[in-house]
Amino acid sequence: MTDFDEAPSPLLEPDPLSAARALDASDPLAPFRTRFAGIDDDSAGVVYFDGNSLGRPTRASVDRIQRFLVEGWGDRLIRGWDEEWMELPFTIGDRLGRAALGAAPGQTFIGDSTTVLLYKLSRAAVDFLPERSEIVLDTDNFPTDRYLLDGIARERGLRLVWIEADTEAGVTPEQVAAAVSPRTALVVLSHVAYRSGFLADVPAITRIVHDAGALVLWDLCHSAGSVPTELDAWDVDLAVGCTYKYLNGGPGSPAFGYVSSELIGRLAQPIQGWMGVRDVFRMGPEYEPAEGVRRFLSGTPPIVGMLAMQDTIAMIEECGIDAVRAKSVALTEFAIALSDEWLTPLGVSVASPRDADRRGGHVTLSHPAMREVTSLLWQRDVIPDYRDPDGLRVGLSPLSTSFEEVCIGMAAVRDALGELTLE
Ligand SMILES: *Cc1c(COP(=O)(O)O)cnc(C)c1O
Repeated sequence: MTDFDEAPSPLLEPDPLSAARALDASDPLAPFRTRFAGIDDDSAGVVYFDGNSLGRPTRASVDRIQRFLVEGWGDRLIRGWDEEWMELPFTIGDRLGRAALGAAPGQTFIGDSTTVLLYKLSRAAVDFLPERSEIVLDTDNFPTDRYLLDGIARERGLRLVWIEADTEAGVTPEQVAAAVSPRTALVVLSHVAYRSGFLADVPAITRIVHDAGALVLWDLCHSAGSVPTELDAWDVDLAVGCTYKYLNGGPGSPAFGYVSSELIGRLAQPIQGWMGVRDVFRMGPEYEPAEGVRRFLSGTPPIVGMLAMQDTIAMIEECGIDAVRAKSVALTEFAIALSDEWLTPLGVSVASPRDADRRGGHVTLSHPAMREVTSLLWQRDVIPDYRDPDGLRVGLSPLSTSFEEVCIGMAAVRDALGELTLE
C-alpha cells in the first residue's frame, strides 16, 4: 500500500529535472539571470545557494564601477561631492524605500554597516524613552544584534528581556505580548530569521509593541530585496538591513536605515559627526543635527560601496518586488519538494516553516552530517552555507537563481550526504 504522504509532489512531475526546466520556461524573471556576471546562457556553472549571505554581482555593476573609477572619481574628482555624492545616501535610500520597503521618501538612507546602524538607531530609541528600563530581544537573533544590545544595556543601565525563540521557527506575536510591559523601551527583532527563514508577523507585532508604549526596530537583513515590507503602512518606527545579501551590493556594502517621519526630528543619534548636521560646510562650532534623515549620518558616506546596489534596485523597479517574492516562494517550495523526495529518506528534516506565508527566501535542511556535507559541496562548486546546529542553508536569490540550479544543487546534496553516511 502506498502511503498518501509519500506520493511524489506534483511539483516534481514527470521527473525533477524536467519539472525544473518547465518552471524556468514559464518564469517571468528568468531573463534577469543572465544579467549577472559569471552566469552564461547555456551553463549553470557554480550552483550558488548563498545569495542570501553575499549576492552575486550584476554585469551592470561591473560597468558602473569601472565607469565610476574613470569618469566619476577620475574626471570629476572632488566636484563629485557637490554634483552627486552628498545626496547619494538619500537618493538611493528613497529609491530602495519605494521599490522594496514600502517607505515614502525622506525616511530611508544608506549609512554605515548594519551593526553600526543598529547601534545608532537602538541607542537613539532607548534615549528617547529614558523613563523606561528594558529592551526586548530574542535568543535566536543574529549575533551582532544580541551583542550590541547587550552593550547598550550596560552603557545605559537597562535590562535585557529575552524571548526564547524556536530555532526551527521564530518569534510569535503571543511571545512578544508576554514580554512587553510599561517598562519596555525598545523591541528588536528580525523580519526573517537568519537560521530558520521564519517570517515574523511585522504588523501584528508592531501593534503589540506600540500598545505597550514602546518602539520597535526591525532587522530586515534577510528580507530586503526578497520579501516586501510596508514599513509606512505597518507603522514601523525603525528598521535596518543589509545591502550585500539580496540587494547584491558587494562585500561590505553599507546598510540602509529607516526612521519613520514622525520620529526623525525627535531622535538624537549617538555618533554626532559633521556629515549629519544642518549645514555641513559651515563647519560651525557646535553639532546642530540636520532636520531630516541626514541627522543619522556620522562621517563621510562610503560612496564606492553604494554603487552596485543601485543595479539590483533598478531590476526590482523593473519587475516589481511582488514578482520577486512570488518567485522566491516558488523556489523555496521547489527546494522543499526535492528535500522531501530525495533527502527525507536519508534522515534530513526541513528546519524551516512549511507554510510559505511564514517563510522567507531560504530553506534550512537539518542532518548531523551537514557540516561535512557543506565542505564537500564547496569542493564541487555547489555553495550553500552551514549554520549550527546541523543546518545546511539553501539561500535562493529570485533574480539570479534558476529552478534547474536548485535541482542540480539538491541532487548534489543528496549525493554528498549519501557518500558521507555510507562511509
Ligand atoms: C547579515 C546580518 C547582519 C550583518 O551585520 P553587518 O554589520 O553587515 O556585519 C546583521 N543582522 C542580521 C540579522 C543579519 O542577517
